[in-house]
Amino acid sequence: MKHKYLKNVAMLDVSAQKCIGCGMCTEVCPHDVLCIVDNKVQIKEKDSCMECGACAMNCPVDAISVDASVGCAAAIIKGWLTGSEPSCDCSDGGSCC
Ligand code: SF4
Ligand code: SF4
Repeated sequence: MKHKYLKNVAMLDVSAQKCIGCGMCTEVCPHDVLCIVDNKVQIKEKDSCMECGACAMNCPVDAISVDASVGCAAAIIKGWLTGSEPSCDCSDGGSCC
């Protein structure tokens, strides 16, 4: 079964201009979020991105940006995994998630 997270919240962006088509990001992505088309990276399943940062960490030309482990998406996912109340502390004194 494919994992899907919240719609349009993943902080993932790719630069086809910088991409040299090495395919490393597609190798390391655990959720098959990225693909290579005409030797350039593309996002094919953004809502499957868990913002782990593996793709960006392994890209040799810095063509991928992702806010790994920050923000509301990460807080909600952590809440699901731990069974706790999701909170990303981005508002004063309370949870916004
Ligand atoms: S951040 Fe992780 S899940 Fe998202 S595209 Fe990169 S490797 Fe895949
Ligand atoms: S790792 Fe970087 S250079 Fe290689 S295919 Fe992915 S985005 Fe392109």
